[in-house]
Amino acid sequence: MAKRDWDEYFMKIAEVVASMATCDRKHVGAVIVVNKTVVSTGFNGAPRGMPHCDDVGHELKDMGGRQSCVRTVHGEANALVQAARSGAKVEGGTLYTTASPCYDCLKLIINAGITRVVCKEFYASRYGMSGEMENFAKASGVQLVFLPSPLQESENEPTTKS
Ligand SMILES: [Zn+2]
Ligand SMILES: [Zn+2]
Repeated sequence: MAKRDWDEYFMKIAEVVASMATCDRKHVGAVIVVNKTVVSTGFNGAPRGMPHCDDVGHELKDMGGRQSCVRTVHGEANALVQAARSGAKVEGGTLYTTASPCYDCLKLIINAGITRVVCKEFYASRYGMSGEMENFAKASGVQLVFLPSPLQESENEPTTKS
């Protein structure tokens, strides 16, 4: 890093978090940052005590015309839940995620009081609602930012901000 870039720094942490995911349909990591401090992390995986996709296979359901694995709690949701478990305040914080949030997670993010979401790549997720994410975030006052990705473009979404 030529200059200290906090967004890149926290996204790198989110990438490490993503490596712990237990559903290989998509490895996603999320990090919640308040005042330049990581207060919570989350990756997608089965609820605590439940079998993991990596061990028993996926739980696929048709959602909005595409197969989605519904077993896992998403990384963004898990980061919020982990904050709830530990009592960390997330209001006014930034959530870094390696893939843009699905409709469900974005709603949780909004209600948790997160004011900024930084995404590494655009991810077309369940319900076919991903395309409306930006408008939805804008309407709710959450700033949605895509980090420039010099090496990779999401394969199915050329509209990714870069
Ligand atoms: Zn799965
Ligand atoms: Zn989600």
